[in-house]
Amino acid sequence: MSEVFKGSFTQQEPIPDAGIEAAIEVMKSGRLHRYNVAGDDPGEAALLEREFAQAMGAKYCLAVASGGYALACALRAVGVEPGEPVLTNAFTLAPVPGAIASVGAVPVFVGVTEGLVIDLDDLAAKAGEARVLMLSHMRGHLADMDRLMEICDAHGITVIEDCAHTMGARWRGRLSGRDGLIGCYSTQTYKHLNSGEGGFLITDDAEIAARAVVLSGSYMLYGRHLAAPEEAVFEAVKYDTPNVSGRMDNLRAAILRPQLARLDAQCAAWTARYRVVEEGLRGAPGLTVVERPEEEEFVGSSIQFLLLDWAEEKINAVLRRCAARGVELKWFGGAEPAGFTSRYDSWRYAPSMPMPESDRILKSILDMRLPLTFGFDDCALIARIIRAEVGAVFQGE
Ligand SMILES: *Cc1c(COP(=O)(O)O)cnc(C)c1O
Repeated sequence: MSEVFKGSFTQQEPIPDAGIEAAIEVMKSGRLHRYNVAGDDPGEAALLEREFAQAMGAKYCLAVASGGYALACALRAVGVEPGEPVLTNAFTLAPVPGAIASVGAVPVFVGVTEGLVIDLDDLAAKAGEARVLMLSHMRGHLADMDRLMEICDAHGITVIEDCAHTMGARWRGRLSGRDGLIGCYSTQTYKHLNSGEGGFLITDDAEIAARAVVLSGSYMLYGRHLAAPEEAVFEAVKYDTPNVSGRMDNLRAAILRPQLARLDAQCAAWTARYRVVEEGLRGAPGLTVVERPEEEEFVGSSIQFLLLDWAEEKINAVLRRCAARGVELKWFGGAEPAGFTSRYDSWRYAPSMPMPESDRILKSILDMRLPLTFGFDDCALIARIIRAEVGAVFQGE
């Protein structure tokens, strides 16, 4: 009998008790809106922002309704205009080009390497085409951030980082989200903190921070923030910054604060699981493990491997055979968008030039989440199943 995996790839851990208790307190108080505070209690949302700014080493932090909102808010805060081209990754998830489209701007896709990071040669070639790069650290893979910033600095490109998969990760010791002008994060259920929906934006730039706070819907209550710039900065921007409502509420903030306190331990737990799967897959015939650079301290909340130059029907056979044994793989190369995955050429509102080298890689990417509800034995079993099924299809069984 062949082994079958019985776990769920979409089952996250429960919210920690402290988060549940804090959430109940907020509900008992009835004060869910972030500016509905009593006495000298600053409210959960303001406290969360102060704690997240501190955890990331940023001067300013704004908590918002979603990661996608944080990205669009960042684009607005840097003054991206309708019709303006914005560089971004060809390998990313739909909310990234979607955020660009939401401000009327036009995504210009930059290719992907076998390391699953933005192709820096392609970026250098296209650097003259835009003044903003929305950089997606897709699936937790960090590009050489030193070289990337050199290219962008040389061309005067403002970098906005999408850290939906890199909260807690580092490049040469620097936390992800701290190289660009703005770092954006998601606290949607499948990310590194879970409030169902939610997000953050961090920056050291006072004017950008003030614009973001007003954009998020602070009205003239920005003085209640604990991780925002001083009054004078708001005075300079408050009349010409629209309110594009997208606030975080106190209930979600209450759920998030205890999770933030244990972020480092969670990140280490993900990466330990990743290493077990990676070891189990290494050397499997026909399969390419994505080697991680030494400078990268990644968070292994998901894992990818490549089936380079495999025929479509063989990849489909691997997906089917793994699924039959309980292992749910996602394929980024499918011609039709499915589930959470889609290809840059399926975002038809954003016309793209063909990128044959990237297409070859995208076609080969198989992906899987590693929720912390999986134990090490689960991870080893999953790797055995993938290894066996990839091997069987590779050898034409
Ligand atoms: C989840 C995600 C987002 C958007 O986050 P939401 O909170 O779902 O809006 C952006 N980029 C990437 C790469 C993501 O995975």
